[in-house]
Amino acid sequence: MEGFLLKKKQLQTDMIHEAYDANEHLGSISIPIFQTSTFEMETFEKGMNLFAGKEEGYTYSRLQNPTVEILEKRMATLESAEAGLAFSSGMGAISAVLMHVLKANDHLICSASLYGSTYSLLELLQEKMNITVEFTNFSSQEELSKMIQSNTSCIYIETPVNPTMEIYDLEMIAQIAHTHNIPTVVDNTFATPYIQRPIELGCSIVVHSATKFLNGHGDVVAGIAVGKKEMMDSIRKSTQRDIGATLAPMSAWLLLRGLKTFSLRMEKHCENAEKAAAFLQNHPLVEQVYFPGNDLATKEVFKKQMKCAGGVIAFSIKGNIDDVHTFLNRLRLIKLAVSLGDAESLIQHPASMTHKQIPQEEREEMGISETLVRFSVGLEAWTDIEADLEEAFAGLSI
Ligand SMILES: *Cc1c(COP(=O)(O)O)cnc(C)c1O
Repeated sequence: MEGFLLKKKQLQTDMIHEAYDANEHLGSISIPIFQTSTFEMETFEKGMNLFAGKEEGYTYSRLQNPTVEILEKRMATLESAEAGLAFSSGMGAISAVLMHVLKANDHLICSASLYGSTYSLLELLQEKMNITVEFTNFSSQEELSKMIQSNTSCIYIETPVNPTMEIYDLEMIAQIAHTHNIPTVVDNTFATPYIQRPIELGCSIVVHSATKFLNGHGDVVAGIAVGKKEMMDSIRKSTQRDIGATLAPMSAWLLLRGLKTFSLRMEKHCENAEKAAAFLQNHPLVEQVYFPGNDLATKEVFKKQMKCAGGVIAFSIKGNIDDVHTFLNRLRLIKLAVSLGDAESLIQHPASMTHKQIPQEEREEMGISETLVRFSVGLEAWTDIEADLEEAFAGLSI
């Protein structure tokens, strides 16, 4: 029995059991919600030790909470990392990690396109801390090596990129980063550990908007960061504690509940998205479909680092912005809403919604055109999703 408990388990088992023992909690199979802001410290001496870091325990829920801690440990295991931190949003996680690894006047190398708020956070850091940011599509080791400067303190990667779905070779990037001793940070929101595990490929830190596939039910905003224990401890005692974007116990519990069906949901998201990609590819009113694995240039990277393409597709509609409005307004089952990874199919228009804060010229350079829509394929029956798309396309007079 002990042997079994020590063995590394499959993701499908860890997402349900990791870091929780019912016997330590009166046999409660469901994880208790420690709905408390503060903890009694028993004695003055113990209180001093807890705050001095000489003893482990709980003092105040912005620093650590038992329900949140289970989520942090579980996520670390799912991503093959040593330790994890939970935040009140994906942006909370990204801010805490970037503010930790960057100092004034540093240089940051980033993937060519980024989530809108990550992009504006970097603008803020440029303004306030004189950080310089350089974008790249990581086309080769030589090119990346040349970009690295003495003050380069981080490589920040989204793969697949939101919303244009390009993918980058994480193993290649991590190798170069290691030779220069630079941490790589990967936003794994789109792929999730079901599809790709950046830490196993040599990357240093993985961040998530857990609001998306990890929770999967559209009822929580949350973020996660995982990596080496030393780094996570250090973030916990600095930018997480002092900026304070920590996760509430109730939200952690909802996420832990969402995670119990994580792999089943991912399997279905991937299956439905593959059908949707094939349908859109063949549709005469679709200009282009953006889906990981579609691009010949990155086919090998796709095979090497991703189990499947994921649940999100972007596509451009033949026609103009009015046709996009008509198309989106005609959809009934597929909801016009930002976010992704929910049971419901969700669709949105990046140029006027999630990526609106990026200046138009740069947005277009990133491939985010006026006619591009991003589609998070839900868990509904594929035939119903297909019928909704057909109906909406039928209203276009092109
Ligand atoms: C949604 C999202 C974020 C931000 O996460 P929040 O939970 O909304 O703060 C960051 N990165 C990616 C790729 C996202 O899709």
